[in-house]
Amino acid sequence: MQDLPNSDQKNYPDASNNKPIHSVSEQESNGVREKERQLRLFAHIFDSVNEGIIVTDGGKNMLFINPAFSTITGYSANDLIGKNLNLLHLDLMDDAFNHETWRSINEIGSWQGEVVGRRKNNENYAEFLSISTMKNELGEVSYYVGVFSDISERKAAEERVAYVVLHDFLTNLPNALLLQDRLVQAICHAGRENHKVAVMCLDLDHFKVINDMLGHLVGDKLLQEVARRISNVSRVSDTVSRRGGDEFVILLPDLEAVDDAAVIAAKLINAISHPCIIDGNEIKITTSIGISIFPEDGCDEDCLIKYADAAMYHAKKNGRNNYQFFTNEMNQLALERMSIERKLRHALERQEFCLHYQPQVELRSGRIIGVEALLRWNNPETGMILPGRFIAIAEENGLIIPIGEWVLREACRQNREWRMLGLPEITMAVNLSTVQFRQNDFGEMIKAILCEYGLDPSALELEITEGAVMHNAEASIALLVELKAMGLKLSVDDFGTGYSSLSYLKRFPIDKLKIDQSFVRDIVVDSDDAVIVSTIINMARTLKLKVIAEGVETAEQLSFLKRQECDEVQGYYFNKPMTPEKISKLLASGHEEDSQWSYELR
Ligand code: C2E
Ligand code: MG
Ligand code: MG
Repeated sequence: MQDLPNSDQKNYPDASNNKPIHSVSEQESNGVREKERQLRLFAHIFDSVNEGIIVTDGGKNMLFINPAFSTITGYSANDLIGKNLNLLHLDLMDDAFNHETWRSINEIGSWQGEVVGRRKNNENYAEFLSISTMKNELGEVSYYVGVFSDISERKAAEERVAYVVLHDFLTNLPNALLLQDRLVQAICHAGRENHKVAVMCLDLDHFKVINDMLGHLVGDKLLQEVARRISNVSRVSDTVSRRGGDEFVILLPDLEAVDDAAVIAAKLINAISHPCIIDGNEIKITTSIGISIFPEDGCDEDCLIKYADAAMYHAKKNGRNNYQFFTNEMNQLALERMSIERKLRHALERQEFCLHYQPQVELRSGRIIGVEALLRWNNPETGMILPGRFIAIAEENGLIIPIGEWVLREACRQNREWRMLGLPEITMAVNLSTVQFRQNDFGEMIKAILCEYGLDPSALELEITEGAVMHNAEASIALLVELKAMGLKLSVDDFGTGYSSLSYLKRFPIDKLKIDQSFVRDIVVDSDDAVIVSTIINMARTLKLKVIAEGVETAEQLSFLKRQECDEVQGYYFNKPMTPEKISKLLASGHEEDSQWSYELR
């Protein structure tokens, strides 16, 4: 056994009789030497352990501390020996805690737990403390022995982990988990106090456009700025959380009246709509907000969030940049959406889709020169569902990619079949979703499909909307150029309803503009619409683009379009979208009886 180092505490107590050690050091007996060796061993342990150790007498006057105690607290033996334990601020806890702790120590003989200690430099720290007593023959406490370790680093690490788990890394706002917890508490509290709670779902309008056009870094900074603005408008008691992407959820836990939520929503919309400069870009963004109220709309946290979400969706439909309170009709719509979404997931594999085709007529000759493929979903439970009810949902959940590919494949297959039957060669127009248009390998996919069916690329026309192209104009132009180079035809659908940027239009290698049916509808009664339509036709002529008017329903509309020398028309006046069999017959009859299928254009 190596030599035991001397402790700087010269007078360790003899635990059994409270007399100094040196009073027995001269005794010669083996028993005494053994005892001395043991005491030295204990002294060594006392000096070398990492835990702080403190010994007081029964009156809590400090007798000994070990070196680790000094290291942890900064107090030396000189600072403390002979003084009362209170000096160490073990009274940081409240009276009830102290009372309970000392009662347990005195009655049971020990206690342990986490407490807050205070160092000599007045800094607080977390310690894990065990206190035990040594009693004399009369059962009175002779000594208190405290052993503790500094756990502040471990506590800090635990707190960091807890913070990360409950907060959003980008904005430092509470995340969905913490919001859920606070919402549960708010509902409990409001239930007792007869208060209301508001939940607001806030979604930025067209945030994707900014991400696509200016990059994710700018998008992230914009989200941080929005987070700051929302926090500035909110009260300290509110919880502003980020759910992910550009979605925020705000909890207003103590609402007196429903109108208060409306006031805050209006303030939020205003605060967010002020332009901000990020990396030299002036960005204007708006937001749509949905609000649900406890207890009016629902009494559990999941419902309230779901309903606020449904209301937000409604605000988007209502033109964005506004707020909406949840109503029961919205719930119905939300339920219907969910039901459609569920069924949509199996629609492809169950072969529930088919295409109908609507003829496109050339005005000059009155002949059908093309058809537009329009998707139909025949669900066994619901019956025929039109694209207006499910395309947006498929775009949101990504199903539009496989569905869109199926449409392209089926449309090409059908056109090839008609050609094989010797029917007149027509162009097949297929609608493309913005989401499909952003697919990386879109050009390759089209090439593969055309190749698979041996179809000439000029037999396929892709209808894209202005929005799809404008989302990421440079990349779009590159893709359009690639598609054009393959020999495909390109048209801009619903023209006039989107960005309609003429400068871009000049740069897009497109063949045709499709005037949106909302303008065509009123050309004979609304002079504004008449002017718009004739302007589009003239502009198209200047840019050497073809122009087709969609939604033509009456002879009057048709004669107006003829006067304006519109190239092509499509609409119920000629045909509704038809099954492939009917189109085949229409094309075949014309073919057999030579130009019988030409429309007589008055
Ligand atoms: P769209 O491309 O503008 O198609 C024209 C819509 O107007 C079609 O509605 C058509 O049935 C309807 N229509 C045609 N003529 C008339 C008329 O004279 N009067 C009126 N009131 N309506 C007329 P549908 O088939 O319900 O399609 C709606 C929209 O759904 C389409 O608008 C298109 O944006 C989208 N869509 C259809 N099929 C597909 C598809 O396969 N993929 C994608 N991504 N979208 C599709
Ligand atoms: Mg279309
Ligand atoms: Mg259209």
